Amino acid sequence: MLETDYLIVGCGASGMAFADVILTETDAEIIMVDRFHKPGGHWNLAYPFVRLHQPSSYYGVSSADLGNREIDQVGLNRGLQHLSSSDQILAYYDEIMQRKFLPSGRVKYFPLCNYLGNTQFVSNLTGKTYDVKVKRKLVNAIHMQTKVPSTHVPNFTVSPGVHFMPINNLPQIEVPPVGVVVIGGGKTGVDAILWLLENGIEPEKISWVISRDAWFIDRRNTQPSMEFLGDFLHYQASQYEALRDASSIPDLFDRLEEAGVVLRIDPTVKPTMFRGATVSRLELDELRRVKNVIRMGRVRHIDESSILFEEGSLDVEPGQIFVDCSANALSHSEITDVFSGRTITIQPIRGGQIVFSAALIAHIEAAYSDEAHKNELSRVVPLPDHDTDWIKMLAGSLRNQQIWRKDSLLIKWIRQNRLDGFGNLLANVGEGDTDLKMKRTRVHKSIGPALEKLQAFVSELS
Ligand SMILES: Cc1cc2nc3c(=O)[nH]c(=O)nc-3n(C[C@H](O)[C@H](O)[C@H](O)COP(=O)(O)OP(=O)(O)OC[C@H]3O[C@@H](n4cnc5c(N)ncnc54)[C@H](O)[C@@H]3O)c2cc1C
Repeated sequence: MLETDYLIVGCGASGMAFADVILTETDAEIIMVDRFHKPGGHWNLAYPFVRLHQPSSYYGVSSADLGNREIDQVGLNRGLQHLSSSDQILAYYDEIMQRKFLPSGRVKYFPLCNYLGNTQFVSNLTGKTYDVKVKRKLVNAIHMQTKVPSTHVPNFTVSPGVHFMPINNLPQIEVPPVGVVVIGGGKTGVDAILWLLENGIEPEKISWVISRDAWFIDRRNTQPSMEFLGDFLHYQASQYEALRDASSIPDLFDRLEEAGVVLRIDPTVKPTMFRGATVSRLELDELRRVKNVIRMGRVRHIDESSILFEEGSLDVEPGQIFVDCSANALSHSEITDVFSGRTITIQPIRGGQIVFSAALIAHIEAAYSDEAHKNELSRVVPLPDHDTDWIKMLAGSLRNQQIWRKDSLLIKWIRQNRLDGFGNLLANVGEGDTDLKMKRTRVHKSIGPALEKLQAFVSELS
């Protein structure tokens, strides 16, 4: 029988961010278990050209930088902070495990092991079963079940002989295709289209099946550095002012778009989806070069020369490659209390920031004892899916931020944590910086009325 303080199931970004804080802030011992042979979770299965869609500077674990905050000089992200590739992310997590966690002598790592429940796991390689006596907590870092294209089973059928592939296989194409049909209007579909265009396929050869259009976040507004702080403050002020002035939810989205808070690919099509993905303006311009966008609902079946949709069917030239980008990375697992007896279930407690959430949950575990209070500090912010989830996500995040703000030590911890991104920058706006101070005043003036309106819209939605 093994013995440990914390048994962490899942060595993805969540499990790693949690373990890092526990290691830094307590003297606890940890056992980490994962099915994969390397830490990093879904990044192990990602398509070869995937990148983070947020700057690397606030992704990873609290104690170690990922990337060097450099501004990209080339590509469609140029002018903005670097986005790590999956190789960089995996190398980073491997370093953390090999050079920090394991040498501490307090972490035992069991890769290639499947968790069975009841603090028991089995090695997929040897078949050996391990029982663990957990002295403090079982940490469930697999609750959110990220889905990726390579393991995703599409919810439509494909006739034999059709050239159909997950996005992962795109770089393996050896014969120039007649055309490529990309299925999926989310971030994965965006990545597939951009990769095809960057690699020289003419936009006329691409067909893009979008069953639901998405609102995207302008990546420029997610850059945590002094250089972009003006953009960030303008973005914050604009979203609060849009909320304050909105007469209805549709009017709110018009105002958000007008202010550049949210972006869409086709200004004539109303998005019904929001999953928190970012795009750069350059990427948006590229995406708009693809004119053959098919909006006929969800795909039901694909054969060599036609696609059957919910809303009819469409003939296509035989010989096309069909690329599946329909996996929804964020699975909408049931929301549960983060702290429940001897179990901690990692879930987002700030919208769109899963690693920050995992790190903060670990800090709350280390620094507080009363379970009700811990849960009060860790109210789950549901993952977004529909357009109006933008409202719920912001309401949940601001609600938590207000609670955290009442606790000076907690807010100090948050500001000093690299995964927070902006808190420290905002706290250090210099007296002499008139432009930033004016934008900050706009934020302060609009946040109160914005919160009231946010609550009204949340009530309307529920
Ligand atoms: C393409 C893509 C890009 C993304 N970009 C960003 C971004 O820029 N910023 C951002 O904040 N988020 C991003 N995300 C969201 C992403 O989900 C999180 O960033 C994060 O990587 C999720 O980590 P996780 O640990 O929660 O889950 P996972 O990465 O899924 O890790 C879970 C781990 O648990 C293991 N596991 C599951 N079940 C068992 C079991 N029974 N026994 C043992 N092990 C098990 C799995 O092997 C896996 O390693 C992105 C997601 C995708 C798919």
